[in-house]
Amino acid sequence: MGKKIIITGGIGYIGTELSKIYSGVSRNNKIIVFDNRFFSERINQLRNWGIDFIHGDILDKELVKKHFSDADIIHHLAGVTDVPRVKSESDKEKENQINLVAQNGTQNILDVINDECKIIFPSTHVVYEGIEKVKNEILEEEHTKPVLSYANSKNINEKQLRNSKKKYVILRLGSVYGYSTDTARIDIMPNLFSKIASQNGTLKLFAGGRQVKSLVPLIDVARCFKFMEERDDISFETFNLAKDTITVKKVAEICKKYNPKTILKETNDEIPNLGFSLSNKKILKTGFNFLYNLDEGIKEMIFKWSKANITKDLEHVRNGEKEFTDKRGKISNHELPEPVNLIGLIDSKKDTVRANHYHPIQEQKCLVTKGQFISVYQDLLKKNAPKVTHVVNEGQLIVTKPNTAHAMVFSKDTVFLNLVRGEREHDNYGVTHTIKHILVDDNEKNLLLSCYKFDCRACGNDKLKRIISLGYQPLANNLLNKRNEKCELYPLEVNYCDKCHNCQLSVAVNPKKMFSNYLYTSSTSKSFRDHFINAANKYIKNLKLNKKKSYIIDIGSNDGVALKPFKDLGFKKILGVEPAKNLAKTANKNKIKTYNGFLEKSNLNKIKKNADLILASNVFAHSDKLKEMAECMFKLLKNNGTIIVEIQHLLNTLRDLTFDNIYHEHYNYWSLTSLVSFFKQFKGIVYKAEKINTHGGSLRIYISRKKNKKIEKNVKDILLEEEKFGIKHFDTYKKFAEKIYKIRDNVRKNINNIKGKNKSIVGYGSPAKATTALNFFGLSEEIDFIIEDNKLKHGKFLPGMNIPIVAKKEIIKKPDYMLVLAWNFFDEIKKNNEDLADKFINIKDMERE
Ligand SMILES: [Zn+2]
Repeated sequence: MGKKIIITGGIGYIGTELSKIYSGVSRNNKIIVFDNRFFSERINQLRNWGIDFIHGDILDKELVKKHFSDADIIHHLAGVTDVPRVKSESDKEKENQINLVAQNGTQNILDVINDECKIIFPSTHVVYEGIEKVKNEILEEEHTKPVLSYANSKNINEKQLRNSKKKYVILRLGSVYGYSTDTARIDIMPNLFSKIASQNGTLKLFAGGRQVKSLVPLIDVARCFKFMEERDDISFETFNLAKDTITVKKVAEICKKYNPKTILKETNDEIPNLGFSLSNKKILKTGFNFLYNLDEGIKEMIFKWSKANITKDLEHVRNGEKEFTDKRGKISNHELPEPVNLIGLIDSKKDTVRANHYHPIQEQKCLVTKGQFISVYQDLLKKNAPKVTHVVNEGQLIVTKPNTAHAMVFSKDTVFLNLVRGEREHDNYGVTHTIKHILVDDNEKNLLLSCYKFDCRACGNDKLKRIISLGYQPLANNLLNKRNEKCELYPLEVNYCDKCHNCQLSVAVNPKKMFSNYLYTSSTSKSFRDHFINAANKYIKNLKLNKKKSYIIDIGSNDGVALKPFKDLGFKKILGVEPAKNLAKTANKNKIKTYNGFLEKSNLNKIKKNADLILASNVFAHSDKLKEMAECMFKLLKNNGTIIVEIQHLLNTLRDLTFDNIYHEHYNYWSLTSLVSFFKQFKGIVYKAEKINTHGGSLRIYISRKKNKKIEKNVKDILLEEEKFGIKHFDTYKKFAEKIYKIRDNVRKNINNIKGKNKSIVGYGSPAKATTALNFFGLSEEIDFIIEDNKLKHGKFLPGMNIPIVAKKEIIKKPDYMLVLAWNFFDEIKKNNEDLADKFINIKDMERE
């Protein structure tokens, strides 16, 4: 047998590269990685390289003694890498931790290794950081002058090694750069710059980027450790290990060379010091050669990062790939991230739940061979992480990361294979235990099964893709009567159909739960009243409607706001259809004839047919049964009649990031592209499309069944605009989601800043969008109460966050900030209420960084 070589901290940035090198000689040597962290993917990789893994801490004296006392070589890479780089960031606890690991851990090793063992240790160029004068080509003899705790502890370690009488080699590393999947290493300047460049970002060069840095490529660092292990003649030595000394600006220019879209932005501020550089003459004298350079390193990083998937899902679903079909049938393949030695065949009955647990170490892989289930999962490592659901169908593989609580709710009789790397025989990685964690109880199971939407509402496609998960949320308009009243929570998640480009929620809540007693009265707002007055005049003129003869139906007529202008102009034959009892009653009282009920087949005989015009303003997203609704509309319509639908335009939602349009009442999210495709199946022709400014950007479309109806240019224009925006590409939607998650972080930060200054915040307006936004942001105590103009909402509470909703007159003490939640009426609200608060802020402005 060859040498026994131990790499402490071998899972980390340098350790990974060093292990890779040792994989070539692991057959003839005993190579061990000793690390207190655990990443299943990395450990599998080590195994495949013939390297043993010991999950342990160098502070554990007994464990160190057991494994290290007969070692020939120690590469001592263990330490805390997440360290304060500037003074203000440092905190006591972290400093203590660094010192403890560094000193006690290192001493534990030095105490047990024999005199023949060689220990190779990475120190750092920052041990010179306190040198006041700008100095270039610093030699190893230079007196070190550490300032921050990281440099201090490295300096102490150096002393420990020198005093130990053990064979040591100290390598004082320059800034180590190079591609790594370890995101913690992005704080190193060339890495950070390459990452930004890979995303076409802007590189800010403070003080014109004049600072110099001594850099060293990651792979050469790993190579040097191996070199020192091989060289029996080198011991009791300290070396600087740096390749290039270069200005920050030069690094940025290399980035720009490999991605010309990168923007360089210089500032003229003063810098505390221009940096220093290390001499590498001594290391070169030993015969060590550097093989890599900065140019190549940056090129590689930009290339790899621009290809890499930035977000790593905790749980993901894969369809089979590389399909092979012939007359016997179909083969589809799944590639697994690690070898599997145990397969469980699991049969599950419809309407049952499995899992409700998590695995602290193992990754779970399930391949569904028959049936279907709803998977529910939640990150346990992140505080306040939302609960997420998605569907897993036949032929799909689902991979769940460790420490992700998960549950399977079976919507069909299901058979799946549980594919595991069984580890019972190993001491370390063998911890395969499963820990109970109830994520879905019986009530929730029933709730999910009753409302889950497995297929595309418009085209029936059952392979929908997730755009965004806003967590479990209450029904937005169901305000609470008591502060501590319980309310039902449903997943609020949007899926995308890549066959017809329809977007819909993952669930379809029973409409009776939302629309039977509706508190949103359209007539409250003057801008809405005006909107419908203008619309009525326009339709009368363009469609040549007749006061006496023309029959107009408004679906989802609310309190009659859209029909009232027609009535005022003398139209006799008008009818509203409204499911909310209270609203239908109000409308009828105001002499606008209104049928109280949903527009569905079973109610058709109660509604008079042969309409000239059917209006559906902001209801065409408000139903699970849109096909049935469309069919009913066509049945009520005269042959040459017109349907006019107003819907919120998905293009605006995506472009303006108005994610708060998403709530359970909006079952569906329409683009003109998906609408045209939808109406085609009923032979309905979308012949005209207009952009209107209600609800943060809407579309008004005109539909006719008249053959040869001429399609106006505006339809083609908007379709083209959508296409250019990327409405047919899933990537567009993923990018939207990433921005929304960023918005959440920003709002939390900005509101916390205000609260940190001890300022009071009162909200203004409690539209449905406020429920979505506040629940998504997790804001409740931060807002004292919410002012509302709609009397019906007074005395109630915003669901989920349980914030009181009151009338203006309830304000006793003038608040510091009035946070306008009904942001689309910001100007109107501010103008009419200027004396209510010291400062008016728009919730939309809080979304910026
Ligand atoms: Zn579809």
